[in-house]
Amino acid sequence: MRSVAVVLALIFAVASAWSIDYTGYTVQRCSTNSEDKRDLLYGITNAFGIDVLGEFIDSVDLLVEPKRFDLFQGLKCKVIVEDVQKKIDDEEVTLQASRLEFLQNKNDSDAYHKTYHTYDEIIAKVNSIAAQYPSVARVSSYGSSLEGRDLIVIRIKGTTTTTKKTIYLNSGIHAREWVGPATAVYIIQNLAEKYGKDAEVTRLLDAIEFVITPESNPDGYSFTWSDDRMWRKNRNNNQGNRCKGVDLNRNFDVYWGTGSSNNPCAEDYHGTAAASEPEVKAMQNLVTGLANKIGAIDIHSYGQYIMRPYGWTNALHPDEAIIRQLGNQIVADISDVNGATYSSIRSAELYPVSGASDDWFTVKLNLWGFCFELRDRGLYGFRLPEAQILPTGQEIFRAILTYADFVLANFNKD
Ligand SMILES: [Zn+2]
Repeated sequence: MRSVAVVLALIFAVASAWSIDYTGYTVQRCSTNSEDKRDLLYGITNAFGIDVLGEFIDSVDLLVEPKRFDLFQGLKCKVIVEDVQKKIDDEEVTLQASRLEFLQNKNDSDAYHKTYHTYDEIIAKVNSIAAQYPSVARVSSYGSSLEGRDLIVIRIKGTTTTTKKTIYLNSGIHAREWVGPATAVYIIQNLAEKYGKDAEVTRLLDAIEFVITPESNPDGYSFTWSDDRMWRKNRNNNQGNRCKGVDLNRNFDVYWGTGSSNNPCAEDYHGTAAASEPEVKAMQNLVTGLANKIGAIDIHSYGQYIMRPYGWTNALHPDEAIIRQLGNQIVADISDVNGATYSSIRSAELYPVSGASDDWFTVKLNLWGFCFELRDRGLYGFRLPEAQILPTGQEIFRAILTYADFVLANFNKD
C-alpha cells in the first residue's frame, strides 16, 4: 500500500497542470428535433465557436462558457453538467486511484484495461503484445506526428500461407475520446492471444490481416493528459494564429471543405488543404498501400452509434440495403455481449460533415467505411468511468468480429 502522501502528490502533479480552466462552463443538451431547430443550433455553434461535444438524432451536447449562456435561453436546452472543471477534477482523482491500482496489480491480465494510459504506455503495451505473439503480430511506424511522435501500426494475421484480405481499424483521431485507444488496445490483445485458441478468431485471422492504428493523433492525445482535457484537434500552430489545431477528421481528401469550418478557432477547422496534416497524410498513404482491402472502421466516442456511409451527404449509398443489414447485425451482436444499446444509422443522420475518414474509406477506396461511436450517451462523455473500459472493449471486439465476418462473406468489389 502506497502512502497517502504519494497518492496525493500524484493527484496534485496532474490536476495542477491544467492550462485551461473550465470553471463555470456547463454542458447543455439542446433539442434538435426539427430541421429548423437543428439549423438554428448549428448556426449558433458555428457563429460563436461553441464546442459540439456529442451529437444525437434529436439533440446535441454543447460545451458552453458562462458568457454564452444567454444564447441558449429559450432554446429548451438542459444543463447536464453544472461545472465542467469540477467534473474534470473529480475524474482526475479516480484516474490516479485506478492507475495506482493498475501498478499494484501487474498479475491481473485485465488490469491494463481498468484504467487509462498515456501515449507512451499505449505504445509500450502494443509493442509488448507484438513481442509476446511474434508469429501473428508485427508493429511498425507509418510516419511521424507534427511534434515528432511516432505513428504506429500493428498488423495481425494468422500463420497460414493463404493470401489475406485486409481490414483497417483506426482510433484516437479525436484526442479527448479516450475510450477509443483503450478499446483498440483491447481488440489488439484479444486478436493476438485468441489466435489458435478461439475458433472464430482463428478462422478470421487465417483469412484476414487486421491493420490497426490505435493512436493516430498522439500530439493531441498527449495534450489532453498535460494541458487540456477537452482538446480534440491535432497541435498545428496554424501559422501563428492564436487558435491551434486542425480537426483531423475534417482533413481527409474527400469533399474537403464543403461541410466543415475554415476558422482555425473552430473545433471542426479543416486545415489549409485536403490532407494538409502529417497525421492524415500518413494514414492515407498507409491505407492506400494496403492490398486486398475489404473493410475499414474508424472508432470514436461518444453516442453509441454504429454509423454507415455516407457522412457528407444524406444521399443513400448504392449498397444501402446490405450495409444497413450489416449495421443492424452489429447492433444486435453488441447487445448480446453486455446488454448495451447502440443504434444503427447513416453517419449524415447526425449532421452532414465533410473530410471525415469513414467517407474517405468509402468514396476513395470503395469500401464500406464505418464509424463507431462508443459509450456513453453523454452522462460521462469523453471520460467514461474506468469500470466501463472493459465492457466497452468486449462489445466492440464483438462488433469488429461481426463486421469482419460480414464483409468477408459479402463484400466483393474486385
Ligand atoms: Zn470523434
